Amino acid sequence: MAAVSEVLRSDWITTGPKTLEFEQEFTRFVHAPGALALNSCTAALHTALVALGIGPGDEVITTPMTFAASVNVIEHVGARSVLVDVQPDTLNIDPDRIEAVVTAKTRVIIPVHYTGHPADMDPITQIANKQHLAVLEDAAHALPAKYRGRYIGAGNNPVAFSFYATKNLTTAEGGMLTGTQEYLEKARVISLHGMSRDAWKRYDKGGSWFYEVVLPGFKYNMTDIQAAIGLVQLRRLTGFQTRRREIVARYQATFSQIESLECPVERVEVESAWHLYVLRLRPGMLRISRDEFIEELKKRNIGTSVHFIPVHLHPYYRDKYQWKPQDFPVAFENYQRLLSLPLHPGLTDADVRYVIEAVLDVARAFRR
Ligand SMILES: *Cc1c(COP(=O)(O)O)cnc(C)c1O
Repeated sequence: MAAVSEVLRSDWITTGPKTLEFEQEFTRFVHAPGALALNSCTAALHTALVALGIGPGDEVITTPMTFAASVNVIEHVGARSVLVDVQPDTLNIDPDRIEAVVTAKTRVIIPVHYTGHPADMDPITQIANKQHLAVLEDAAHALPAKYRGRYIGAGNNPVAFSFYATKNLTTAEGGMLTGTQEYLEKARVISLHGMSRDAWKRYDKGGSWFYEVVLPGFKYNMTDIQAAIGLVQLRRLTGFQTRRREIVARYQATFSQIESLECPVERVEVESAWHLYVLRLRPGMLRISRDEFIEELKKRNIGTSVHFIPVHLHPYYRDKYQWKPQDFPVAFENYQRLLSLPLHPGLTDADVRYVIEAVLDVARAFRR
């Protein structure tokens, strides 16, 4: 609150010195080649596709197990969405199924690091290199996450992060695009009206009034008010993550003992950001469905959610691409038995015990 007040009392409230400072600190944090702060992850993904030159006639591959924004942006640029089913353990895009859908029109793969667990990036990158495709990572859940010891966002390919209210680091609304300096220069122009110089530089002392519109760009810039929140959140992020891991460890220790429950995994080569704790109900072991399990938890004052309704079930996508639920069987089957438990650094030990007791109570009461 103090950081926001400081910005509000200063001479500059929109994109300016705080946004620049946030970009620089974020760059250092994930060891990125560079970073561009935007007003959402959706904006970052959209800008990224435009900066890659994707448009009508192109095909973009992604996963059905994601939030609609990951695919909506493919539609925004007029390209065709192509889905690839997920791996059964992590529910991330299955690299073994990618090459079968690559055509002469394929341009980009968008892996989504579901729940903060990094996707299988080595085989994905290998396929992309072989087939001359770009890799744009949807890292909305993956701050901070590591794949083979390296932060998600540290590579030269574009990576989009979200600072939405529910995410691991929030600016209420906001996003970040990482990538090479050269790529981000192009993305910066695209993200701000297609102007060759941004507003802050124009009004800064010694700046010039002159600019040129080189393409019909968007209005996706971050404000200094948001960046001020982001800077404080970034300094607290490591502490937030320690608390997330403590909570996850308690959930795992208890729920792994319960036959009817399947716990989320963390593969040895990754460090998950643990954005979500997704529990799966084992088929045939309970007398109630996932929906009823959620209702039982609600009766016990536990709020849960489902991440996600697979993309191919949503009417727009189902109708446009004529997708059937069984077209992506792993995503569909898992969707029907998963739910997300409360997971955030604000949970007290008593809260965590309360959640655990409620889940155990429901699992025992409805055991088959
Ligand atoms: C939240 C989310 C987004 C969109 O982020 P915004 O910052 O709200 O635009 C994109 N992809 C995934 C997987 C998300 O969960």
